[in-house]
Amino acid sequence: MDSFLCEENMKTLIKFLLVTLVVCVSTITSRAQQNFINITNYRVYCGWAHNYPQDWLILRRFENQGKDYFLLVNPQTLQTKVNESSFYQVKPMTLTQTRTFFKKTPYEKAISKAEKQSVAIQDAGIERGMPSETGISLTADLCPSHRMLDRRIFTTLINEFQKVERPAPIALSVSGIWMLQHKQDLEWLKQLVNSGEIRVTWVNHSYTHRVSKNAPLKLNFLLEPGTNITYEVLETEKLMLKNGLVPSAFFRFPGLVSDQQLVYKVTDFGLIPIGSDAWLAKGQQPQAGSIVLIHGNGNEPVGVEDFIKLLHSKTKQIASKQWLLYDLSESVEDEFTDDK
Ligand SMILES: [Zn+2]
Repeated sequence: MDSFLCEENMKTLIKFLLVTLVVCVSTITSRAQQNFINITNYRVYCGWAHNYPQDWLILRRFENQGKDYFLLVNPQTLQTKVNESSFYQVKPMTLTQTRTFFKKTPYEKAISKAEKQSVAIQDAGIERGMPSETGISLTADLCPSHRMLDRRIFTTLINEFQKVERPAPIALSVSGIWMLQHKQDLEWLKQLVNSGEIRVTWVNHSYTHRVSKNAPLKLNFLLEPGTNITYEVLETEKLMLKNGLVPSAFFRFPGLVSDQQLVYKVTDFGLIPIGSDAWLAKGQQPQAGSIVLIHGNGNEPVGVEDFIKLLHSKTKQIASKQWLLYDLSESVEDEFTDDK
């Protein structure tokens, strides 16, 4: 009898250890983002994917080393993730069908609002979150640059928020060429993410980030004749995935410049254009709920200094949680959750 009990206990213990091991391994793998180094057949793919209890909207499909993957967005929270397609029940749909299916979600409301704000040559798309928020969403653009990453942004952010908001949320709009030319800076940022100091929403900022010194805005940036928008969007995402970054559902136009046609081209990729109502280097003052824009690529130190001054002026409010940083996805989600 004793030995039987002992055997049963051992079995229970082994079972317990195995379950613990599985949980630990899955936690580790979900934290460390995979580097997809052999992506093939990367394409826009629309539809619904379901894995109980969550519905997902499919943005992309691709293969990597013999496995088939989706890039998915949660239409309620606007968070994205990459996962194997075999884990889901799937209903492929056209873009129009997909958007109708998810019509009542914050994602669809945000993307249609961005389309409605598409006429202006500069600053189309979503430019602010909820005015009731006492704080801002910070976005820093990483346009191609020969200068080093402006690390002051991150060190100041971490110092100011370490006791009240850790990890501190920031959206980084990253261009393909910046990623190629700044491997060490990118690794440094990833270390800050892995050590739980910052939480990054990776925003597509186009691949080549075309810009001309002399051309008028209507023929500049992605409006330059000959721009291949499919290349600009998809190659940036592929390079993000290769570097272990999960592309978000957001897009930031280089120079914040676009026209209506270009906005619709971008929303056809399922991406939400993000503008800014507070480009600090241009003297625009942030309000509650602002989407603040600074440049992290070393080319706009004035904006970074303004941001550091802003943080220092809020030290007391930050310490008492009266002034916080909002994750871009959460901020946009809040803005579109209540207007049913
Ligand atoms: Zn830029």
